[in-house]
Amino acid sequence: MNLKDYIASIPDYPTKGVIFRDISPLMEDGKAYREATNQIVDYAKEKKIDMIVGPEARGFIIGCPVAYELGIGFAPARKKGKLPRETVEVDYALEYGHATLTIHKDAIKPGQRVLICDDLLATGGTIAATIELVEKLGGIVVGCAFLVELADLKGRDKIKGYDILALMEF
Ligand code: IMP
Repeated sequence: MNLKDYIASIPDYPTKGVIFRDISPLMEDGKAYREATNQIVDYAKEKKIDMIVGPEARGFIIGCPVAYELGIGFAPARKKGKLPRETVEVDYALEYGHATLTIHKDAIKPGQRVLICDDLLATGGTIAATIELVEKLGGIVVGCAFLVELADLKGRDKIKGYDILALMEF
């Protein structure tokens, strides 16, 4: 099975000149979704992880089935104002303006080994902010797993030194 067959490419979305890579056909196909999940599970097993963290919102779609399969916990990193209890937060730059990502203060215990999951690595801003959140709590980021990496945007350069799994590259 070629997982790339399940990624839709939409030209000029959300703005002119951008090609949006849409993972929803992959999620809508049970076999493809399971294959992608299993590939990340195999990677996670080698890393002996304690927890998975995923940034809102598509990080949940990727991270939760992996956590379920491994029988470990999942902690969401969410936009400011969405989590009800005490949080730590990190500001990060967007193409226009900035955003704040938060995580519950007790979501990760110091020394826990964490895998971060998201759908797509673009400029690396989201993953860098998520790594910072985990490390603020004393977690050890042992890997970052994505379905898709947009190689031209060089997101890897923003998270040098961290291990990265990308199932597909565009
Ligand atoms: P980054 O912070 O620039 O690396 O952007 C990654 C985040 O933006 C991820 O959480 C993605 O969900 C989202 N994103 C950016 N570009 C795309 C795309 O082409 N398709 C789907 N999601 C995207």
